[in-house]
Amino acid sequence: MTAVVKNQLTAHQWHNLPVQEVSRYLNSNIETGLNSTEVAKRKESLGTNELKAKHGKSALLRFLLQFHQPLLYILLIAGAVKAFLGQWVNAGVIWGVTLINAIIGFVQESKAESAIAALASSVKTNSTIIRNGNKLQVPSTELIPGDIVLLTSGDKVPADLRLVQSRNLQINESGLTGESVAVEKSTQPVDADAALAERTNMAYAGSFVTFGTGKGIVVAIGTATETGRISQLMEQGNILKTPLTRKFDKFSRTLLYIILAIAALTFAVGLGYGNTWVQMFEPAVAFAVSAIPEGLPAVVTVTLAIGVSRMARRHAIVRKLPAVETLGGATVICSDKTGTLTENQMTVQAIYAGDQDYTVTGTGYTPSGEILLNENPLDFNDVPPLAECLKAGLLCNDSHLENKDGQWIVVGDPTEGALITAANKVGLTRDNLQASISKLDVIPFESEFQYMATLYEIEQQERIIYIKGSVEAILQRCQQMLNFSGQLTPVDADTVNRQVHTMAHQGLRVLAFAKKPVSENLISIDHADIENDLIFLGLQGMIDPPRAEAIKAVQACQQAGIQVKMITGDHAVTAAAIASRMGFNHHREILAFTGAELAKMEKAELATAIEDGVVFARVAPEQKLRIVEALQSKGEIVAMTGDGVNDAPALKQADIGIAMGGAGTEVAKEAADMILIDDNFASIEAAVEEGRTVYSNLLKAIAFILPVNGGESMTILISVLLARDLPILSLQVLWLNMVNSIAMTVPLAFEPKSDQVMQQPPRNPNEKLLSPNLVKRIFIISIFNWILIFGVFEWMRQTTGDIAVARTMAIQALVVGRIFYLLSITQLGIAIVDKIRGIRREISDQTAMYVGIASTVILQIIFSQWSLMNQLFYTAPLDLNQWLICLLFGLPMIVVASFANRLDSNF
Ligand code: ADP
Ligand code: MG
Repeated sequence: MTAVVKNQLTAHQWHNLPVQEVSRYLNSNIETGLNSTEVAKRKESLGTNELKAKHGKSALLRFLLQFHQPLLYILLIAGAVKAFLGQWVNAGVIWGVTLINAIIGFVQESKAESAIAALASSVKTNSTIIRNGNKLQVPSTELIPGDIVLLTSGDKVPADLRLVQSRNLQINESGLTGESVAVEKSTQPVDADAALAERTNMAYAGSFVTFGTGKGIVVAIGTATETGRISQLMEQGNILKTPLTRKFDKFSRTLLYIILAIAALTFAVGLGYGNTWVQMFEPAVAFAVSAIPEGLPAVVTVTLAIGVSRMARRHAIVRKLPAVETLGGATVICSDKTGTLTENQMTVQAIYAGDQDYTVTGTGYTPSGEILLNENPLDFNDVPPLAECLKAGLLCNDSHLENKDGQWIVVGDPTEGALITAANKVGLTRDNLQASISKLDVIPFESEFQYMATLYEIEQQERIIYIKGSVEAILQRCQQMLNFSGQLTPVDADTVNRQVHTMAHQGLRVLAFAKKPVSENLISIDHADIENDLIFLGLQGMIDPPRAEAIKAVQACQQAGIQVKMITGDHAVTAAAIASRMGFNHHREILAFTGAELAKMEKAELATAIEDGVVFARVAPEQKLRIVEALQSKGEIVAMTGDGVNDAPALKQADIGIAMGGAGTEVAKEAADMILIDDNFASIEAAVEEGRTVYSNLLKAIAFILPVNGGESMTILISVLLARDLPILSLQVLWLNMVNSIAMTVPLAFEPKSDQVMQQPPRNPNEKLLSPNLVKRIFIISIFNWILIFGVFEWMRQTTGDIAVARTMAIQALVVGRIFYLLSITQLGIAIVDKIRGIRREISDQTAMYVGIASTVILQIIFSQWSLMNQLFYTAPLDLNQWLICLLFGLPMIVVASFANRLDSNF
């Protein structure tokens, strides 16, 4: 045991040793893997196979960075000047409030970051390994040295492996070596001092299998791997930056300059009136503070983070935060068919063999049902082509069926599961055949080639290749076929194609089958062996029903002005039949193109075809990239799904790359912005819905916060210009902008989606953050806020003669107005209005809103009634009448806000 540990640490030159040596050192067996006792022992002493995520920056640094916002510099400097002037309480409050703001920001940001990181890593990577002589899937973190790992294209290499088998295996090691071209792998020992990039018999953790298959023995895990040595930790960048937050940063920088310029002007005007600079400092600071929306950054972070967790609840895991926003603006969704739009629950319903059609009864993977010819059951032994066709489906197959609690399920590919079920229905099973045949070699199915082939030895002498795949791939390789009585006759491609068309038209997925007898000493096969001379055996057509929830989701997308396009490797007619059944293109004729047709088009023609087309069939993975680019050239915001290795470039190019959590390869997941846990199209639609909600909630937060800044700064500016007393002091402004704004705006982040989100067209991606309508709204509310503060202050000062009371009432009236304004842009407000009108409506959870409003009220009461607050913020306690006056003055906001709501369909 300790030998293993030592081996890991001293880093044997594994690449220099022959395979047998390696397995001897690691005390493992290339065929059967480790046994259970050995696994348990090693696990205990060697730990798990993972690198810990590192936080880019220390907590202290991240906390300090909270102050690294241009808008906050002004506050810090203002506090310093106040301290310099000996106004310690003032300085203390300013710094205190900034500190509280930084703490809130820090806590929210850390929470958001770790929530997002946790979600991203919740998508587990599995590896296929051999232990105890059995093939099984385990989480990659459980690998230990000595384990035998099977690799196929699309896998992420889970640990450092010495390869013991390579079948055209190619691995991309760019993460380690910087070399972007995949390396061809072999098993031969290489020079002891070969550089990492030249160790062709090794597969290193973190690299990707781009082609072929292979088998390797784990020689190092976790931090002992080559990747682990370079960095003990996984990189984690700044995950909270998005296009929107960047727009915010830019916006706040511009705002800063404007504020500084106006503050300087205020200062100068005051001096011109004959004030001293110490006297003018307060209005200048009050202005600067009033114009800054200090609470906004925290709200943005919280809103995005909530969006991410809502999407996760609806089975969409966001890997890159910007996707949350981009999703809301998607104009086209290109989706896979099989498994995403459809159930991926296949049942063979029609067979064509020996120039006869058969129907198959029964549903699902339960092996009960019959094969009928002209509605009559028959013994398949009497019909050689039918028997051979079923046998090809059963044998050219890597999957198997299992009975779980009375339910038959497929382990592997549903297409293959359907073929096994069909054969089992007439009693043709692998168990029955096992004695007489053995599998020698396989060429696995890859979308690019559209077929799979297996080499069998029959009765220990004859050797036969069984092949299955798309009709296009198989038929052109066949010259002969089996006729009804089992004789070889020439194939008539037209007859077969007519048959395919009939099946495809019913939405059936059609596979063709063939065989080829080969020489008795062939022990392995490659693509050249099945170039031609195949014997056509027949067709099997299987149904893969559309997912009910996907049908609804497609309709919802179309309502929302989002085009849905189907991209599939399947037959054009099958795909179009499913698309029209699902109501793509509003039940008008479906425009379908095949990959071959697209390949022939000129650039401009291609872009138009792709823009107009709804179904793209027999598309090679590489063509997905061109589809994305063509759509983008037409100004579309494209969401694209993918699962294979070759989908990665398209996923990266798409505005939102979406990988399948279940069927997707690691390569696709790595390239994607978002991962669908359930591979279901309905989850994409849900994510779009949440993305739109996030954006609309962010707009609401802006529309809510900025008018207060507008009202405050107008008040102060005008007071200075008119040389009057300030209706509101810098510290009071600070209270409003930070404490009050955060209490009232955070609930906006929790605002549930409205019924209208999916009734509107997608947002224009080039739209400015502050659209003309939004600016108008902010201006209108700002003016009202200004009138409120200025009016209440002036009136109260004249009637009571108490400046502190007048200021306090101006603030309280403003907050009352704010509460009404908040209600006017949220669903709670709509619900209240409906209730008054006597309309009943369901309303989703409003806890956040209640808490926000209740804490606002409590905080405001404390603000004016508690003597300590009176001292800190120069407020005064109010009596009941005065409170009522404030309430009365806030009321007209309802009218103003409903006028503002008319301006803009977003509210
Ligand atoms: P999609 O997933 O978009 O429906 P695929 O690329 O999986 O398309 O399949 C394309 C075609 O390849 C299918 O129509 C079928 O003819 C063939 N095919 C699919 N799966 C297999 C398989 N396991 N073995 C052989 N051929 C297959
Ligand atoms: Mg598929």
